[in-house]
Amino acid sequence: MASERVIVVGAGLSGLATALGVALRGGSATVYEAADLVGGAAAYSGGQVWVGANHVAEREGIDDDLERAERYVRDIAHDHPEVLDEAAMLRWLHVSPEATRYWEKVGAIRWTVIPGLADYHNEAGGALEEGRYLTNEVIDGSALGEWRGKLRVSPFFPVGTTYADMFVKGRRLTGFGVTDAGEDEAAPKDPLTFGTGVVASFLARVLQEKNIEIKLGQPVTELLTEDGAVVGVRAGDVEQRGPVVLATSTYDWDPELVREFLDLEPEDFGSVAPNSLRGDGIRLARGAGAATVTIPATSVPILPGWRAGDGYGYGPEYAMPHAIIVDAAGNRYCDDSYWVDIVAKTLDPANRHLPFFLIWDEQHHAKYGLGETGPGGEYADEMGVKRASTLAELAAELGIDGEQLERTAARFNGHARAGEDPDFGRGTVTYVRRFAGDPSHSPSPVLGEIAKAPFFGLRLKFVGTGIGSSGIHADGDGRVLNNDGEPIPNLYAVGSCAALTTTGTGYNSGFALGRGLTLAYLVANELTSTNRPVENPSVTA
Ligand SMILES: Cc1cc2nc3c(=O)[nH]c(=O)nc-3n(C[C@H](O)[C@H](O)[C@H](O)COP(=O)(O)OP(=O)(O)OC[C@H]3O[C@@H](n4cnc5c(N)ncnc54)[C@H](O)[C@@H]3O)c2cc1C
Repeated sequence: MASERVIVVGAGLSGLATALGVALRGGSATVYEAADLVGGAAAYSGGQVWVGANHVAEREGIDDDLERAERYVRDIAHDHPEVLDEAAMLRWLHVSPEATRYWEKVGAIRWTVIPGLADYHNEAGGALEEGRYLTNEVIDGSALGEWRGKLRVSPFFPVGTTYADMFVKGRRLTGFGVTDAGEDEAAPKDPLTFGTGVVASFLARVLQEKNIEIKLGQPVTELLTEDGAVVGVRAGDVEQRGPVVLATSTYDWDPELVREFLDLEPEDFGSVAPNSLRGDGIRLARGAGAATVTIPATSVPILPGWRAGDGYGYGPEYAMPHAIIVDAAGNRYCDDSYWVDIVAKTLDPANRHLPFFLIWDEQHHAKYGLGETGPGGEYADEMGVKRASTLAELAAELGIDGEQLERTAARFNGHARAGEDPDFGRGTVTYVRRFAGDPSHSPSPVLGEIAKAPFFGLRLKFVGTGIGSSGIHADGDGRVLNNDGEPIPNLYAVGSCAALTTTGTGYNSGFALGRGLTLAYLVANELTSTNRPVENPSVTA
């Protein structure tokens, strides 16, 4: 067992879980957090935690097994075999069900399966229609006491409602209070759900452990090293010695690292993750001799978005009826309802489609709005929305070929009326129809004509979501590796600061949080009980 306090850098989900795992096994931990709030990108997230062959699905009578989960991951992760770490993938797949069970057993979370949410790649071998996305049962904010005010709350999900509620009216309209919550005296007064709720659950359990201290507003600025080993950290004026676990997430708000990993300039990139995700962990690790891994930009989970307030916004609106994405030539070029295809095609090095634009009509404006603008509202200036009475005029304003845009829209409208998009398969991904589409729209929840003036458009940006894919090179147990592939003593990486070599170029929603919680479990084990086999954790709570 580590005699020194474990130092965790970052109080997002993976950092909190690591500290909890350490404390539950008799150790102690200090968590340094750069921001004034707890939760990181995890608290902004959808709280979808992907776990193959998990006990919650089993509890709910859903059939799955590790062989199918592995087949699914292999099937979607084959593009660039050189960035898939076979051993790390197997470690994650095999340990994640056990870790998931552990976190529930120790009272860090009460899991539930997100109903009816299918794996992204429904065509892949081993894909499931439902069962691998977990999230928390509603937790009441009162469980956090005075820490409730220090919890980051997501502006991107209707925190307080549940996935089941949301699927009735659709994600977009639930955000504008279009669901009937009903009156239930027994219901929590401060219900927390989605990623905010997942973090709140872990935080509530962390707060019960005397051996964990959380220091807010104290970024770690340096790793202390001796003879090639990490011996502690510096956070401003403070120095602390002990093994270090980096849990700082990605490089979203560092333009240099964005350029290095994604080859995108600020005019085409922003982030919906908190602005304390500045690539610190990657720079700290590099400073201590760590290697990094670059996952091809074409498979990084970045989403179409826009400027909002002094940050960025995104939402399912691009995937809703009466909208398309085109390039400057006025052409559609991808399944523009599905970020996986949008990223792959827009950033294809052989044929990049930047800049790219969202085009929609008055029906979309009236029914859905965009970002913080509710249905029928005025778009905020900073979003850069253009408006015109014809598509040709709109195209001229945006710098798009107008004649081609009209042809593209006319062709798309025929497909929209038929409810099928033979050109690019918009509407063929079950996950998108369920998570992003308008369930009240037929014949397809994601296809609708762009026909009613005025027409609207904006130049899109890709926005990061604190996943990033590229990052610190760590093995399947979270040990940070140097350029020779050797572990750097006393240095670990959990969560999204560690490159997603576990799944290479294959991504499915929930991999980030699912792997984060698995690495937290493994690293906490290693730091507290190196001789104990992880397959048989002894639970102390
Ligand atoms: C809108 C949105 C929706 C998402 N939905 C999902 C989803 O449903 N499922 C999923 O799997 N993923 C989702 N993600 C991605 C996921 O939230 C992140 O990948 C995940 O939160 C990363 O977890 P983490 O623990 O590594 O880091 P985070 O939760 O981001 O926490 C990192 C923390 O480190 C702190 N930090 C940074 N630098 C320092 C420093 N130098 N010193 C001290 N602290 C520091 C940060 O302030 C932050 O609090 C979503 C993200 C967003 C933004």
